[in-house]
Amino acid sequence: MQISKRIKTLSRSQTVEITNLSRCLKNEGIDVISLSVGEPDFTTPEEIIHYANTMAKQGNTKYVATDGLPELKLKIQEKMQRDNALSYDLDEIFVGSGAKQVLYNIFMALLDPGDEVVVPNPFWVTYTEQVKLAEGVPVIAHTTAENEYKLTPKILDQFMTEKTKILVLNSPNNPTGSVYTREELKALADYLDDKDIIVIADEIYEVLVYDGEHISIASMSEKMKKKTIVINGVSKSHAMTGWRVGYACGDREVISAITKLQSQLVSSVSTPAQYAAVAAYDMERTFLDEYNQLFRKRRDNAYKKMVELPYVECIKPQGAFYLFPYFKDTAKKCGFNTVDDFLKALLSEKHVALVPGSAFGYPNNLRLSYAVDEDTLNEAMNRLKIFINEKLENIRK
Ligand code: PMP
Repeated sequence: MQISKRIKTLSRSQTVEITNLSRCLKNEGIDVISLSVGEPDFTTPEEIIHYANTMAKQGNTKYVATDGLPELKLKIQEKMQRDNALSYDLDEIFVGSGAKQVLYNIFMALLDPGDEVVVPNPFWVTYTEQVKLAEGVPVIAHTTAENEYKLTPKILDQFMTEKTKILVLNSPNNPTGSVYTREELKALADYLDDKDIIVIADEIYEVLVYDGEHISIASMSEKMKKKTIVINGVSKSHAMTGWRVGYACGDREVISAITKLQSQLVSSVSTPAQYAAVAAYDMERTFLDEYNQLFRKRRDNAYKKMVELPYVECIKPQGAFYLFPYFKDTAKKCGFNTVDDFLKALLSEKHVALVPGSAFGYPNNLRLSYAVDEDTLNEAMNRLKIFINEKLENIRK
């Protein structure tokens, strides 16, 4: 059977692939430590599971509205008002099967062949692949460690053309952990003020900010709010990656278009999962505070250990749960041409899985997820250190 060109040219998600590979090795009895996953290591809070279960037992197991369960949309409306000072009508809110699926719908609904989408690099690879699926053209705007991998008006200006339709902005960021400040967002909003452009603001890591605060670019001005579609969800905020609930808030015409597409794709998101998300938004604020504290501790520990490694340079991430160190020099000194080769050898010799920066369009770095318990992180960092020291020793001999 012939597979379509569309799918043949689509890249696989390297993060998902590496996670699957480590799972297979684990099943073979190999003691693999994976710091490649983009999800919290613990189970969804009990009360969320309990509520979804109760609602399912009460018969809430049928299709619901295509744009989302009304109770959940109300909770999202409340949340956006409370946490982001953004008010949306209910027809400006859409619930999909995870932020990933919501993003797909948006690119499909907005892009015509040849329309350009500016994606700052390093980037979460799904953006560029989804843009290509929608026959758009990803335009990669290179950012550097000097500016904590953040986009500035100056960089953006080099990539804007008359074909630019969308800018993707992800803060807190995967893979860098960077968080845009109010001033940085204001500068971007000022630059975009007279431009006819849609901003997709992916804020899925909102609750995981350790220094400073999370601010949505949509809250910069009424004009900016009109241009922005905010993406969020419960995957990362409530350890709910497997439930698959994410959402978009923005222009009602766009919401109506993605709902039309959804009616032919999914009908409606899993009903019990949407009730679970309702329960997530009903949880006490203390849950999120404790969650944030836990990840902050992990960030500090992971960062300290990372910068102790020879030749490594790493910005201190302010959010999400990733480190994105520059690793090229370490790889070279250890005798590897590329960071990819270094990581392959690390996995096969020391059984530690990390994601190469090439998966994010930034091949001289790697991504480490610290969404694991302290012992696991310490053991992985220890193995990494031993691996580097052994390689350096071999070269010296
Ligand atoms: N955006 C970013 C930046 C992510 O890292 C992820 C998950 N890896 C998503 C969106 C998708 O999240 P969801 O589970 O809601 O599909």
